[in-house]
Order: sequence, then C-alpha cells, then structure tokens
Amino acid sequence: MNHALLDPDHALAQILAQCAPLPTEAVALAEALDRVLAEPGVAREALPPFDNSAMDGYALRGGDAPLAAGSEHLIEGEQAAGDGLRQAQHGAWEIMTGARLPDGLDRVIPVESTERLESPPRVRLLSEVSAGQNVRRAGSDVALGETVLPAGCVLQPQHLTLLAALGVASVRVATRPRVAVLCTGRELVDDARSPLAPGQIRNSNGPFLAARLPLAGALPVHGETVGDDVSAFLAAFERARAAGAQVVISSGAVSMGRYDFVPQALARLGAEILFHKLAIRPGKPLLFARLPDGTLFFGLPGNPVAVAAGLRFFVEPALRTMLGLPRETHCRVPLLADYAKKPRLRFHLKAQVTLDDQGRLAARVLDGQESYRIAPLAHANAWLLVPLAAQHLPAGTLVEVCGLGHLHPIQLRGECA
Ligand code: AMP
Ligand code: MG
Repeated sequence: MNHALLDPDHALAQILAQCAPLPTEAVALAEALDRVLAEPGVAREALPPFDNSAMDGYALRGGDAPLAAGSEHLIEGEQAAGDGLRQAQHGAWEIMTGARLPDGLDRVIPVESTERLESPPRVRLLSEVSAGQNVRRAGSDVALGETVLPAGCVLQPQHLTLLAALGVASVRVATRPRVAVLCTGRELVDDARSPLAPGQIRNSNGPFLAARLPLAGALPVHGETVGDDVSAFLAAFERARAAGAQVVISSGAVSMGRYDFVPQALARLGAEILFHKLAIRPGKPLLFARLPDGTLFFGLPGNPVAVAAGLRFFVEPALRTMLGLPRETHCRVPLLADYAKKPRLRFHLKAQVTLDDQGRLAARVLDGQESYRIAPLAHANAWLLVPLAAQHLPAGTLVEVCGLGHLHPIQLRGECA
C-alpha cells in the first residue's frame, strides 16, 4: 500500500546522515572549473595593482579645484600600458588606457576633450578636469586582504577571471566523490554498432550516468554492465571498490521481479539496507544501503526516468553534502495549466520552465511522464516537484521547480509558452 511507503523527505534525511564533507585538495586554476571552493578566496594582491588611466588622453595634476577648460599644459612625457614607475615633474603626460599613472599626477582628460598644440608641445583642455577623474585607483575593485569568494562557491569562468586577475595559481577545492556505476540487465547492449537481437535494448542509463555524474561534481571511477546474476554483480562490485569508489550506483533489479537480485547481492556483501521503496513516482523501488567499509550504495530502478529522478533527488544531494555544499533550495514558479495526480506519492515531473508572453516564468508539465519515456526528458529543462499530499493543482499554483542538475541552474529556452 502506498501509505506504507517511506516519505521521500525522511529518506533524504537518512541519506544525508550517512554523508560528510570529503577532504580538500589543491588544484591549479586551469583545472578548477566547476570545482567547489573549499575555503574563502582572499586577495593577496590589490586590484587594480596601481593607479591607472581609464582613458587614452593626458594625465595631469591640479589642486582641489578643477583644471579649467582652456588652460594649456606642457607635455612632459608619454606613458603606455606596461610602462613602469615614472616621476612627473611638471606638465602633462600623454597616457594610454591601463597605463600606470606617473607619480605625482592625479587626473586624466580623454584625448577627445583636448587639442594638441606644438612648439613647444602642449595640450589645451577643451573641458575642465577634476582630481581623480578617469583614474582607476589601486585596490578600487578589490582591496588587499579582501574576501572575494566564499567557501562553497562552484567555480565558474567569472570566478576564474577574478582569481586569475589576483594572481591566484591554485585553489583549495573539495575532493570529488568517487562514484562507480553498475548497470544490470541481461537485455542490455552496450555497443551501439551491434544490432539488437529480439528482446534486447540499448543501455542508455550507463551513458546518462557517466555524463551526469561529473556535472554533479562526482568523479566516475568505474562503470560496467552485468547480467541479472548475483555473482557477476558481486564481481563487478569488487572491481568498483578496487577503483576506490566511495559511492556505488546500480540501475535495475531492485523491483519485485523474479530477477531483481540486488537486495540479495547486498545481503551477501553484509550491507545494511537503510531503506527500500519510497513514496515517489517515478522510481518507487529506490534502495539505499551502506556497506561495512562505509561505501554508500544507491540501487536505482532501471527505467531511464527513474534513474534520472533518483540521481537528481537522492544521489546528488548526497554528493552535495560530500562536496561541502549546503542543501539546495528550489524556486517556485506558477503552473501554466491545471494538473491532477494521485495522492500519497511525490511526483518528479519532466517539465519546461518557459517564459509567458509577458516574459514571466511559468512551469509546464510535459506530456509523456511514464518512466520509460526518454524523449520528453530530452525536451525538459527542469524537474517539477508535486508534494505527496497534493491532488489537484489549478493553473497559477506556485510549484517547486529545479534544474536538471544541482550545480547548474535551469537553462531557459527563451521561447514563449
Ligand atoms: P528493472 O528495474 O531492472 O526492472 O528495469 C526496468 C526497466 O528499465 C526495464 O524495461 C529495463 O529493460 C529498463 N532498463 C534497465 N536498465 C536499463 C538501462 N541501463 N538502460 C535502459 N533501460 C534500462
Ligand atoms: Mg532488470
């Protein structure tokens, strides 16, 4: 009976209770994309490192009052980007964008606001210029010692540009959880060039998990496909452990069928089964266990959408905790059309978050929610969660949505619904 099934929130709490942040490691900045910063980024240099010009023009000095339009200044020198220390004595310096301001100067007038005169070479101001104008002050972007990025930041190109600008060579990041994937099913064919014999299907969960796991911050260390027998599974499990897997994910063979042998295999491994079967759709027979050596095991039912949802809502939160990230929060978006479901199961629906004709976000439940249907998953850009108790949701109801992967936000298609 459905009401006897474990509440998915309780299941998640049980999973997270088994997970702890992994140790950290240093990686070169060039290897740091998508890694999780393990300690705050602190500036060891100021940015900009010196006062410099925001314009091509002339650098000048003056008092508190602006230098007046019409005033003329002898040209003393030229300073381009890359030129070093210079001491200004008197007059103006022709200066290029990004060039270090010669010491003693405090303002820059853009070249288009000047007129150049000769004999002797001098510049005439066509507008007034005040102290500090068009000067980028040392440390005005980042002060020395400032914290620029918090721990837990998932490093994206915009973070790498900041760290590179500050002269950071390497960063300390969370170690990626080592994950192995075992696909079960004697019907599975791995080689895309092999024709299907009657009764066979192609293994799509293996490539899905291999692609998804690195996007979730994990390091896939082993993957293989085994038939429906305990000894082949146990041998594969041994190889996964030998590869250093901290988490093992299997697909298939956790339901009620005659060949659903995973619980039996786990018993042989001395595993503690923490739960089996949840009040969710798709993927109800999800199983979570812990091996005597601490390895965590997720048995996902084999249907491709059950695998995708199981990974997204139960495995990825575990990975998140191992990466030292806080629990994820989902956003809430109005439903585009009425939706009705059975009570007592939480639904994870293939959905599209789109823009309505006013440019506002709206969530649409896609057709084809059956757990074997992969095509609608490929058209989804979000998961839509419908709580256990909900039955009838009228259009406009705020519903929880989240991106297909937890480290990356929803990718909008930019189309109107
Ligand atoms: P199971 O959970 O083993 O009963 O499998 C449920 C359904 O998922 C069956 O239709 C399987 O053929 C299918 N399935 C199992 N594993 C895979 C896989 N790796 N790729 C695609 N479909 C699969
Ligand atoms: Mg099977």
